[in-house]
Amino acid sequence: MNFGFIIDNRKCIGCHACTVACKAEHEVPLGVNRTWVKYIEKGEFPNTRRLFSVMRCNHCDDAPCVEICPVTALFKRDDGIVDFDKRRCIGCRGCMQACPYDALYIDPESHTAAKCNYCAHRVDIGLEPACVNVCPEHAIISGDMDNPLTEIAHLLAREQVTARKVEKGTRPKLFYIEGDEAALKPIATEHSNQYMWSSQASGVGHFAKYAEARMSQADPTKMAQTLAGENGKKGEWMSGEQVEVLVPSSGDEKTMFQKAAEVIKENARRVYDAPNKGVLWGWEVSAYVWTKAIATGALLVPFLAHVAQLAEVVRSLQWLSVIIGLLFLIATTVLLVKDLDQARRFAYVLLRPQWKSWLVRGGYALAIYGGLLTLFGAALFFRWNLVTSLALWGSAIFAVITAVYTAFLFAQAKGRDFWQSPTLPLHMLVHAFMAGAAVFSILALFFQIGENWLIYLRTILYCSITFNIIIIAAELMTPHPTADAKATVQIIVAGNLSTHFWLGTVILGNLLPLMFMWFGGDPELALAGVTVLAGIYITEHVWVRAPQLIPLS
Ligand code: SF4
Repeated sequence: MNFGFIIDNRKCIGCHACTVACKAEHEVPLGVNRTWVKYIEKGEFPNTRRLFSVMRCNHCDDAPCVEICPVTALFKRDDGIVDFDKRRCIGCRGCMQACPYDALYIDPESHTAAKCNYCAHRVDIGLEPACVNVCPEHAIISGDMDNPLTEIAHLLAREQVTARKVEKGTRPKLFYIEGDEAALKPIATEHSNQYMWSSQASGVGHFAKYAEARMSQADPTKMAQTLAGENGKKGEWMSGEQVEVLVPSSGDEKTMFQKAAEVIKENARRVYDAPNKGVLWGWEVSAYVWTKAIATGALLVPFLAHVAQLAEVVRSLQWLSVIIGLLFLIATTVLLVKDLDQARRFAYVLLRPQWKSWLVRGGYALAIYGGLLTLFGAALFFRWNLVTSLALWGSAIFAVITAVYTAFLFAQAKGRDFWQSPTLPLHMLVHAFMAGAAVFSILALFFQIGENWLIYLRTILYCSITFNIIIIAAELMTPHPTADAKATVQIIVAGNLSTHFWLGTVILGNLLPLMFMWFGGDPELALAGVTVLAGIYITEHVWVRAPQLIPLS
């Protein structure tokens, strides 16, 4: 069995009955929806037309929400339905970042993730989902796509269908008959404050009706070309955003064709939609990436000095490494737990693990790194030389894993194209070295740690800042394959977050520390450490926030 949905846009009248039936069936609270109807309008008044698109979970064959969920709260049933169990959910919102379709929300009453579950409880007793049952136009068709006798299988075999964001590779199982690109692609239209009930005009013009009638029979591009060229008249090509139309150069029909062309042109805008869910991972996530960089860098910087014999790591430095590592590891864990909507269930990550999730792998990496660091401290204290060496190497390996695992977690967040960058693990590893060297540079003001060590810290800072600039340039300047990733880069370099980026990341975090080190002595080195730490935090804030400003639906 393989359940799926078809939305037949030839029939949908945008009545919201499906939304209401779903709300009643699942007692969905105010302000959130498991299914909703998005309205798009095209053309200019009076030559406009309105398109409806029913949005919901796509019950993806390869569901990224299931893969990222650390506690199996989301799971795929044998019949292809992607269901969830709110009793397991820890409210990490990873699924909301992973879903490219904006299908999930956090229930304001239970504080757990929820979405369309295909009315699995109804399906189990042979009923159809509530939305299918209530739709007055039979515009929603559900059923087993693998059974050739079902209506959905017939329609899939007969009709041309589209789906949302197939390029994501999730194999969505929600198909649209006559799905419109402007409605299905989130960035084709902007969020607006003037939704339909405040700006609705009366009636539509003659030419819009003409265009609409033809629109239902053909695809827009072909229709536009046919409209303009059907009498064999000569004319000039008019370009819309997605359509080119041949407009006759003279005669009575010129005006009519021009009007029709205006309707057909993709002057699309969003006029009714579910509320935007906003930024899901806020300052706690940026802060935890920052504390994690310090916790791991505090060990990696002295470790590199030790194994490469670049500088002597005296006993006081070893102790500082353990103490800073453990303190910032505790801070990282506190921030991680604080960010959960169901913080009391945090232990589920370790006790009910879903091993494909990088939240689980990361949680274990943090725990093991903390354990090994403690062992290293104990071995130092009791002078167990063999254990000291083993614990040091073990800690260093887990410090690297802990430093970079968030990059893989972000990559599992398939909804955010910018986080799919292959350089992100390197970005986080370099930040760990920068943060570690920065902390020791500040502490050098208060502890006697030797001239060699200061030279070593300067070298590490010079090298890691140079690498950091190269990596950031690569992340922003290499060609991005998707429109969402390009839009994110625009937000960073020229949009909402550009001040943070240019002042915080570029100047404060990279150029100023280089300048301080170049011209100054030890106090300036400490100042460089402070600005590096501030720059890393601002960079993580920008990198975490910017991709979340791109709408998913
Ligand atoms: Fe549904 Fe989104 Fe999960 Fe796909 S990724 S199954 S659309 S919640």
